[in-house]
Amino acid sequence: MEDSLLTTMPGTRDILPEEVAAWHVVEQAAAKVFSRYGFEEIRTPMFEATELFSRGIGGETDIVGKEMYTFRDQSGKSVSLRPEATASVVRAYLQHSMQRGAGLARMYYIGPMFRHEKKQKGRWRQFYQIGAEVLGSDDPSIEAEVIEMTLFFLQTLEVSARLLINSVGDGSCRPGYIAALRHELNRHQGELCDDCRRRTETNPLRVLDCKVETCQPVIAALPRIADHLCESCAQHFEMVQLHLRDAGIAYEIVPRLVRGLDYYVKTAFEIVSGGLGAQNALVGGGRYDGLAEILGGPRVPGFGFAMGLDRLVMILPENVKGLGKHPPELYLAYLGDVAFRKALGIARSFRHLGVSCYLDPGGGSLKSQMRQANRVGAQSVLIVGEDELARNRFPLRRMEDSTQREVTLEELEEYLLSRSSAASDH
Ligand code: AMP
Repeated sequence: MEDSLLTTMPGTRDILPEEVAAWHVVEQAAAKVFSRYGFEEIRTPMFEATELFSRGIGGETDIVGKEMYTFRDQSGKSVSLRPEATASVVRAYLQHSMQRGAGLARMYYIGPMFRHEKKQKGRWRQFYQIGAEVLGSDDPSIEAEVIEMTLFFLQTLEVSARLLINSVGDGSCRPGYIAALRHELNRHQGELCDDCRRRTETNPLRVLDCKVETCQPVIAALPRIADHLCESCAQHFEMVQLHLRDAGIAYEIVPRLVRGLDYYVKTAFEIVSGGLGAQNALVGGGRYDGLAEILGGPRVPGFGFAMGLDRLVMILPENVKGLGKHPPELYLAYLGDVAFRKALGIARSFRHLGVSCYLDPGGGSLKSQMRQANRVGAQSVLIVGEDELARNRFPLRRMEDSTQREVTLEELEEYLLSRSSAASDH
């Protein structure tokens, strides 16, 4: 077999069984916290018509222009692996006429996204996002509530977070701002990097995002969008901040925080976290009142965010990661073939009662089985030998303090079922 068949593709990786526990913690916390805020999960396809993304994300963006995994299916149609899920959620909302449902549509998703990114630390080609969208309201309280939910979620996971917000204006005020930006940039062409010189014409907002050192003095002195907001955008932004303050949420207004796409309006936000290094953005979100129309539907105001799960798991404190681990409650150590068959039977009946049991065929000596019980993190070990079976009295060793006592199977059942995980499963 070729070596390359035994290696994952660049930018992809296996998430191994010992790591998955941490992912479960995050996924379960999201389901729990988001449902308190009225969000329900939606699962959309992993691939969609390419045009959904080229229209919904914008043909000029790096995501659509350079990073999509696009192919033709057997019918010749161009399809792409989803690079993000907002366009899909809005498509689903329109396709299933969710505007006719009761109240607003509040949905969240968890799943893999695909972008053919340049190789960089913290950037994957298959990565995972948790995101949430609220469709059907342009009320500024929605922004504050969704941000509050996101911060609360991170707080339950003991992850530090800093909230950055801005307003990117809308169709009535942003063109004026872009003209002012372009005017200033044209005066400083000589001091800008090649990319920014090009962006001055194609998408001057993206200059604000440039990380090249020599561009920074120019960027720092550029006009700020806050000074160009129209009355309605300025008021909306004030109200968002008022609701955030009501919720006791600290925020920083960051003028460089913009989105290059036309359908993004008003509030943009980012949550960054220490411990992530240069790629410190954990969450990106914003209001996209124009997206549904771009996809061919009616005007449907929307607000949402996407959070990088790979990055979140990376900075999850060890004690929180550990909450997802479920080592076996009972390890069955057996002596001899007859005892092995009996041990399988004991394991079977305890498993049906909701107790997790572990045993392997060919377990070896008692000593090596005890070592294995230790390695798999078993809580208790039951020793099953022929004498023990004849007497219905079995040594039970509690691993945390190495205490040992003799029990009958009936006593063991009572003991195991009184412990919380078996009792709650049962
Ligand atoms: P975006 O959809 O580009 O606004 O990204 C939202 C969040 O997803 C970012 O803040 C990151 O945490 C995460 N993210 C985006 N692209 C990647 C990637 N290639 N690898 C890992 N995480 C990513």
